[in-house]
Amino acid sequence: MSDKVILVVLDGLTYSVAHDCMGYLNALIEADQATLYKMESELPSMSRPLYECILTGISPANSGIVNNDIIRLSHFESIFSLARKAEKTTAAAAYYWVSELYNRAPFVATRDRFTCDTQLAIQYGCFYQADHYPDDHLFVDAEYLRTQYHPDFLLIHPMNIDDTGHKFGLDSSQYRNSARKADIILANYLPTWIEQGYQIIITSDHGMNKDHSHGGILPEERHVPLFVIGDKFSHHAQCHIEQTALCGTICTLLNIDHADKQVCNELLVGGN
Ligand SMILES: [Zn+2]
Repeated sequence: MSDKVILVVLDGLTYSVAHDCMGYLNALIEADQATLYKMESELPSMSRPLYECILTGISPANSGIVNNDIIRLSHFESIFSLARKAEKTTAAAAYYWVSELYNRAPFVATRDRFTCDTQLAIQYGCFYQADHYPDDHLFVDAEYLRTQYHPDFLLIHPMNIDDTGHKFGLDSSQYRNSARKADIILANYLPTWIEQGYQIIITSDHGMNKDHSHGGILPEERHVPLFVIGDKFSHHAQCHIEQTALCGTICTLLNIDHADKQVCNELLVGGN
């Protein structure tokens, strides 16, 4: 069993489209290598508030990151900072808002686009600024970080599904096809990651609505997928998982101290 964790956040991917359109991930489920759960996002169903929620376990109402325009460092311990305290290695290939929450704010592209600084919470980073930055490029960035720096915790955060949802809406072939494309990209990497024993979580921050946006309480905005792959997961058929419990659960997988963070024990081997 490896303690290393890869967290993939497919931005803006609603549960139903993940369930219906991601054939490779469904193949892993049929092969008993992955389990899919439905999770409800915290509110508002927006990106920056929910990056903070996923990575610190603090809901937007409590974190103060209540919309996308709050540009400052997080006030809370994150998976990155807790991993650093435990002398683990951290990396992220992610949208620049993640750099602003945990490394430096505001983002300065010429300084932060490529980050290599062992003193920062995210030690190794490739951060992009354009929502249409191609997902396949982003996964190459992530694979570079993984193979070069061997991070204990790696965040991979592509944006094309969300970007396509804003352009064409939830009920569009373009939105569904962007999810299918992400599934194909994942199929190029997951066999290696699985073989090397990583614990892998694939989820989303929020979903998408028919008005080409998100932010509210509609099921399609709040219901997101949670795929888990790895031998540290219980793979129970039913699990109730709060988005606020991802941080503590990932810290448990990493085998690091996580103080008062909420953990979803039933998701893990030995839990109930
Ligand atoms: Zn969005």
